[in-house]
Amino acid sequence: YENVKKTDPAVYDIMRKEWHRQQDGLELIASENFVSESVMDCMGSHLTNKYAEGLPGARYYGGCQFVDEIEQLAIDRACELFGAEHANVQPHSGAQANTAVYLALLQPGDTVMGMALDQGGHLTHGSKVNLSGKLYNFVPYGVDKTTELIDYDAFEAQVKEVKPKLVVAGASAYPRIIDFERMAKICHDNGALYMVDMAHIAGLVAAGLHPSPVPVADIVTTTTHKTLRGPRGGLILCKNEFAKAIDKAVFPGTQGGPLMHTIAAKAVCFKEAMTDDFIAYQKQIVKNAAVLADELAKRGFRIVSGGTDNHLMLVDVSAVGMTGKEADETLESVGITANKNTIPYDTQKPFIASGVRVGTPAVTTRGLVEDDMRVIADIFEDALIKKDSDAAKAKVKALTDKYPLYPDLMSDD
Ligand code: PLP
Repeated sequence: YENVKKTDPAVYDIMRKEWHRQQDGLELIASENFVSESVMDCMGSHLTNKYAEGLPGARYYGGCQFVDEIEQLAIDRACELFGAEHANVQPHSGAQANTAVYLALLQPGDTVMGMALDQGGHLTHGSKVNLSGKLYNFVPYGVDKTTELIDYDAFEAQVKEVKPKLVVAGASAYPRIIDFERMAKICHDNGALYMVDMAHIAGLVAAGLHPSPVPVADIVTTTTHKTLRGPRGGLILCKNEFAKAIDKAVFPGTQGGPLMHTIAAKAVCFKEAMTDDFIAYQKQIVKNAAVLADELAKRGFRIVSGGTDNHLMLVDVSAVGMTGKEADETLESVGITANKNTIPYDTQKPFIASGVRVGTPAVTTRGLVEDDMRVIADIFEDALIKKDSDAAKAKVKALTDKYPLYPDLMSDD
């Protein structure tokens, strides 16, 4: 970053502080990750200069021959990685991808079912404060109060009653395998289209560690920056019959020019995701999450649904006499970033919440393994139960020193 260092020290100094924050803390936010330096190379490249409205081979601007090659490579790799018939790699984000799908498939006022935000769903699955909930008639489905799992029989009964045009599956805070196949059958038997937002688990799906929604869903959306470990961005996969409608809904429907530097980074990410190293990485994410959930439970925390099958868990901190907000702030004060989160049927408001969502993708990229998860559980115990912040901070420092992150990216001089 020598250029920005010279021309804009104010920005450079802030970048350096954030570099230290990332290095010196433990990142347990389930939706975050650390990208490869190749992904970062693309993001910071001259490809950002190019306008390329349209699709490869059919652009509204001249000079697109090389960015056409980049976008086609990204499309082909996305289709290969996930076994999809069609891919649109242009959505600027997961929210943009979902919005484009709604524009492609729905009319304002249409009825849609999506997982309730306070039970694991995402804002773009019909929250009243989001465009999805304002434009469409979203009816939420949730989890069973006792098991805290999706009850597929109850879901089926609700689909029969509500008769939605579209069902959105997928979640931001659901720690278990989702039976996409069973949901697809229920939707299709009842005349509903079926969309899966696999943003959180895309890396696990790519590695074959979670059943893929791609063969059974009409449309699949994802972000590229969570478990998939690519640049911030979105991706839509679909059957050929929806390809034209999806492409039109992205551009000109909801976006202007695509971000060609990001699309190059997506191509790099998809290639990385086809490697054995990536599969080993995803396996380690799941192992780490299982050990961490188990070790936290041993120390007195309640794990929603009793454990995890994927990269995240919901820790009910009311079991140790705290709110999610207090736990989130206390963890941050000792160097752990996680986020407060409602638990199913939470009695606290979302801004306070009874839970903390904890994920292992970022720390696993850093190199942490099962034994380190036991140390992280000790840190939770030190910080939240024993209230010994010095002990917690010392353990965070030992782990971050052991597993350096981007050591050569910046310097302190
Ligand atoms: N879908 C799900 C399931 C998510 O968890 C998220 C982000 O947290 C999104 C969509 C939105 O992605 P973005 O923040 O890129 O708009």
